[in-house]
Amino acid sequence: MDGMDKIAKAIEDYLARTGYAALDLRCALFDMDGVLFDSMPRHAASWVQVMAENDIEFTEQDAYMNEGRTGASTIKMAMARCGRPVATDEEVKRIYASKCNLFNAMGETPTIAGADRLAQTMREAGLALSIVTGSTQHSLLQRIETAYPGLFELDKIVTALDVKHGKPDPEPYMMGQRKMGAMPWQTLVVENAPLGVEAGNASGAFTVAINTGPLDDKVLTDSGADLLFATMDEFRTALPELTRLTRRN
Ligand code: CA
Repeated sequence: MDGMDKIAKAIEDYLARTGYAALDLRCALFDMDGVLFDSMPRHAASWVQVMAENDIEFTEQDAYMNEGRTGASTIKMAMARCGRPVATDEEVKRIYASKCNLFNAMGETPTIAGADRLAQTMREAGLALSIVTGSTQHSLLQRIETAYPGLFELDKIVTALDVKHGKPDPEPYMMGQRKMGAMPWQTLVVENAPLGVEAGNASGAFTVAINTGPLDDKVLTDSGADLLFATMDEFRTALPELTRLTRRN
């Protein structure tokens, strides 16, 4: 199947799974870690270290498989998994603060190659852009405007602080859609992690996975990605065909 057929088939499958009459893209919601910033290796390393310091079993693979969960949810899940009593809010806060300190000590996080060009091309195609993240990492949130100047609607960002249920629950992406004034069939989600893809899919948005990490592609397609690309540039190259097939006008 060539690239164009792949996109047409993905849209056909999306309409079949959602029951919507058409895909009519008006906005794109970007995840932050692993999509805008190449932060996941550092998140994984800081999670592994802080969990070990607290005698909680946690591997780098766990970090990637649970990417997108809020910090609190990750800590509670890992403690429950190794049979530890339910964590108090203070304990969760202390562990998460310690994880954030470790992460911040690693210095300025690089951006993901090509994410700026992809976002720029989407803007030129008439899409409004915002961000939906399970993070509350101030060091990254504060860098969005300097790393991606003028591209994202910063007053419409959804963070872990805005939602009751984090990814894989659809709430964060549904809230992102409300903030953007967009219906699910007008929304493109850009994700890199299984739980994020699951959340995007469950919100009814057309969900594109970019595999920027170490997991198998299959993990992302099994989570419900409508399309999968290896790099931001590969997605950017496919974007004209996607917008051509999705604009009703
Ligand atoms: Ca992510």
